[in-house]
Amino acid sequence: MGNQRDIAVRRHAELVEEIRAHDRRYYVDNAPIVSDREYDKLFAELKDLERDHPDLITGDSPTQRIGTQPVDGFERVPHPQRMYSLDNTYDEGELRDFLERVKGGLGDEGTVKLVVEPKLDGASMELIYRDGILEKALTRGDGVEGENVTSNVKTIRSLPLRIPSTGEVIARGEIFINRENLEAVNREREERGEPAFANPRNAAAGSLRLLDPSITARRPLRIILYELIGASGMPDSHIECLEWLAEQGLPTHGIQCVCTSQEEVTAAISEFDSMRNDLPFEIDGAVVKVDRVDFRERLGFTARFPRWAVAYKFEALKAQTRLIDILVQVGRTGALTPVAVLEPVALAGTTISRASLHNEDEIRSKDIRVGDMVVVEKAGEIIPQVVEVIRARDTERGDPFVMPTTCPVCGGPTGREEGEARWRCTNRLACPGQLKAALRHFALRSAMDIEHLGPSLIDQLVNSELVRDPADLFSLTVEQVEGLDRMAKKSALNLIAAIDKSRGKTLDRLITGLGIPLVGEVAAVQLASRYGSLSGFYQAIPAVQREELAAIHGIGDKMADSVASSLEDERFMGVVKRLLDLGVDPVARGESEKGSLTGMSFCLTGKLFEPRARIQERIRAAGGEVHSAVKKGTGYLVTGEKVGKSKIEKARAAGTEVIDEETLMGMILDE
Ligand code: AMP
Ligand code: ZN
Repeated sequence: MGNQRDIAVRRHAELVEEIRAHDRRYYVDNAPIVSDREYDKLFAELKDLERDHPDLITGDSPTQRIGTQPVDGFERVPHPQRMYSLDNTYDEGELRDFLERVKGGLGDEGTVKLVVEPKLDGASMELIYRDGILEKALTRGDGVEGENVTSNVKTIRSLPLRIPSTGEVIARGEIFINRENLEAVNREREERGEPAFANPRNAAAGSLRLLDPSITARRPLRIILYELIGASGMPDSHIECLEWLAEQGLPTHGIQCVCTSQEEVTAAISEFDSMRNDLPFEIDGAVVKVDRVDFRERLGFTARFPRWAVAYKFEALKAQTRLIDILVQVGRTGALTPVAVLEPVALAGTTISRASLHNEDEIRSKDIRVGDMVVVEKAGEIIPQVVEVIRARDTERGDPFVMPTTCPVCGGPTGREEGEARWRCTNRLACPGQLKAALRHFALRSAMDIEHLGPSLIDQLVNSELVRDPADLFSLTVEQVEGLDRMAKKSALNLIAAIDKSRGKTLDRLITGLGIPLVGEVAAVQLASRYGSLSGFYQAIPAVQREELAAIHGIGDKMADSVASSLEDERFMGVVKRLLDLGVDPVARGESEKGSLTGMSFCLTGKLFEPRARIQERIRAAGGEVHSAVKKGTGYLVTGEKVGKSKIEKARAAGTEVIDEETLMGMILDE
């Protein structure tokens, strides 16, 4: 027996190390050495091992990134030191003023070393590690108190949950979403009728404030640290602090410049400006900081800003080009969106040939017509926007734009409902444009996450009439797919395997994928947990009332109306029925694991991270028992901070295992 346990302990340590190394290669170095599949295999092995030996779960195990359950709200926690904003400068004059104020403030110090570094465009974050373990992640909030979003931040795979340094480490950085990924997230939001995130900062902030960490985990968030606030043995210059952070394995930007004169500072700033398109992250300026920590202390802070640092904001990226055409795209629910087709122009490191035009009213009010010159801007936004028109001569201008009265894809009639800004193709049943958009949505990473099912394959599947709705995907055969253009046997096999794999996804993802208007990932989780499984949902339907839906936590009136009308929609219900007939019957998240604590008992002691009542509730929800004191048969003593030694010794003597809070959360496994 002992031998077997030793093997488990050793294998656990190996897996943790290996997965951590892969995470680092993938997310930090951008140079993975294993395929996703191999990675998933290692991860699954680790999860199995931890299921059999829950005591091996440590707070920093890779499985703990998605281990926690939804919270009711975010606790507000004071920052150890106030989190200030940065004063902005926009030109050399303002920069000179800043440097002079620094000199004046320090008196006769001779040359002052300055560090110039990129200003990342995301949401600011404070991390606190204690004895090497990530303890807290706080948003800036009002600067004095931030919101505790630790469980969400833990889902960021490039962030180590453990660092070598002991004691308390306080560091600050920025959380953001990569450009390409933001585009995908936005496409989904727009189709759902939710406003698109304007920039990486909004996207990051929105993702961090989701109450359900497993949804945050699906968002490809990244973090970069740029400030060390406190650590034992903290270096006395910023440059060394940045190195120190990197040595701890924490992600840093790695492109700071040391300067000693205004000329050097200006040169560094313009260098950052010119390389901004080649960086793997979005920057909206540069930050100039005094290097020496003791100088910083002497300079201090104004009411809102440090006196030892300043931001220099870059100009928004703009370009001028000619509008050659206005195309109309068809979305998943038939919504028609005009898109500007441009004479290709270089902007922000890429060639732009499309831009967003918003809606018909906007085009009318700006009187934008084919033939005009337009100014497109990319200010953190992913899709460039037309922000200005320079009218061409009348003879060179096209007619005023009108929305087509027939759908550009299916030729069906279009219309605009009272009070709606959008035109739609009304041919819901038979518009290939809508179907293609619906399938793209179904396959998304945040929905059924079907690998290999990309836009061009979807086009082919729809055009060949092999797929008429999402349920059809599950009856596809290798032979059918193989018969498509440019399809080899191997890719056909891959696709079918990926579709099959998606059968195991949870109910909330399927609901998200079905794309009920207004129902996003969060509402989908609520609906899923209310009905338990797709078949449960289907059976409940004849009786499901609008009122019942509206009573579900997190489902508003409008959303309830939208769900109710989908349930009355024959086509929608037909898809659900056929999914069930094809054996696709996913269950709600947690449902399959309900009772992960069945037969176990716990006693809580010490100052715990989460409110005690909530922890007790979770233990009970997972089938466990809560004892008010350790008695004979109490399985686990969950200890928080400041627990007396004697309590622990007594528990051990009674045969009760002593675990910490994170271990407990890990035992209440999720997904
Ligand atoms: P602002 O939000 O415009 O007031 O700018 C201040 C914010 O810039 C800070 O709160 C940080 O979140 C962010 N920031 C981005 N990059 C850096 C950096 N390299 N150093 C300091 N702050 C940064
Ligand atoms: Zn149509």
